[in-house]
Amino acid sequence: MKILVTGGAGFIGSAVIRHLIQNTQNSVINLDKLTYAGNLESLLEVSDDPRYAFEQVDICDTAELERVFQQHQPDAVMHLAAESHVDRSIDGPAEFIHTNIVGTYTLLEVARAYWNQLPEERKKAFRFHHVSTDEVYGDLPHPNDEPVIAGDSPVIASETKQSIDCHGLQPRSDELPLFTETTAYEPSSPYSASKASSDHLVRAWHRTYGFPIVITNCSNNYGPYQFPEKLIPLVLLNALEGKQLPIYGAGDQIRDWLYVKDHARALCLVLEKGKNGETYNIGGHNELQNIEVVKTICEILDELVPPVIAGDSSVIASVAKQSTDCHGLQPRSDDTASSYKSLITHVADRPGHDRRYAIDSTKMQTELGWTPEETFETGLKKTIQWYLDNTKWCQRVQDGSYQRERLGQVK
Ligand code: NAD
Repeated sequence: MKILVTGGAGFIGSAVIRHLIQNTQNSVINLDKLTYAGNLESLLEVSDDPRYAFEQVDICDTAELERVFQQHQPDAVMHLAAESHVDRSIDGPAEFIHTNIVGTYTLLEVARAYWNQLPEERKKAFRFHHVSTDEVYGDLPHPNDEPVIAGDSPVIASETKQSIDCHGLQPRSDELPLFTETTAYEPSSPYSASKASSDHLVRAWHRTYGFPIVITNCSNNYGPYQFPEKLIPLVLLNALEGKQLPIYGAGDQIRDWLYVKDHARALCLVLEKGKNGETYNIGGHNELQNIEVVKTICEILDELVPPVIAGDSSVIASVAKQSTDCHGLQPRSDDTASSYKSLITHVADRPGHDRRYAIDSTKMQTELGWTPEETFETGLKKTIQWYLDNTKWCQRVQDGSYQRERLGQVK
């Protein structure tokens, strides 16, 4: 099969392409505009393979999309290209509306025209796989939410909780509801609203034109090659540089974490076996508060790269220590200040910050036989080790050279 992957130079798209080239016989056309989030250095493991091709194209550009479809004749599309960072969407929503909504519309129209003229057999087998997020569902009740007492019986405080079967005043997280494929959309941020819009467009193209689609909505991903504006690599790299570890508010927001390779496997399975017109939720069943995630990263780092403490108790990572004249530094191991945790700094919460996301991925498991291979602990250790082993990739992202020098890599 020839698969056109949009956004293949991004974090998840590059994991999908590495998976396709390394574990299947499929060919891949990576179509990516190369925004700040697109990094061809994430594909060096596979980019010399004859089954891999790259096209630097914007999904909002109809003529270029038409050329790519005609030239490469794909059998399927995996659509991952998007603006993906919630904070950026709050500071500047326009790009999110343009790429995520107008771009998806443009791609749908070009793909539909191409599909319409395919011979019957190829037309029947064609799929447009739209990759989306669990953030379209809004947020879920949080175990710390204040209960409200009405009369004799406990009533849950927020509007979203009215339909919950909640036992007692302090429900545990595992008694709270999860997002299913039929949960109503209630996006909170410009990012999630733009992704919700694109999901609706894709469903409408199926219903109205009979265009063959599948949609997946996934929880928070983490793993190798993630851009260091996202929580896990940001905390990891800041800690190694002895910088503050910013936590929004109390850090009690709950996210459901999935290792990116498990997501890539799930996406390829849905493309291969998912039913036309269906939606599949993908999640790791790893509900954790952000503060727990950050503390766990610090604990793993404390073991792998023990920090050195300067006179004023600030942490100097041993990565820095190894190349630093240690004069004046006094390594300590006897108290909490000797942990990277001492760098944790609480900052003002993000406006409209969703409190809790949690995915029910039963349909993926029962219908397609997918389960994640990594627990959060094993996946996080692999991720941290990857960042420690790939300092060159990190440095080139941090100093911008991955962008300045990439023209030479575009074939
Ligand atoms: P990313 O930001 O790392 O990568 C996005 C890629 O899209 C980049 O390579 C970028 O250059 C490309 N791109 C952006 N605008 C483009 C345009 N106009 N034309 C062509 N290419 C363009 O994102 P990611 O984290 O890899 O996410 C990929 C997809 O998965 C997104 O659709 C996102 O909504 C979804 N998703 C992400 C997560 C997550 O935790 N990261 C979770 C669930 C779903």
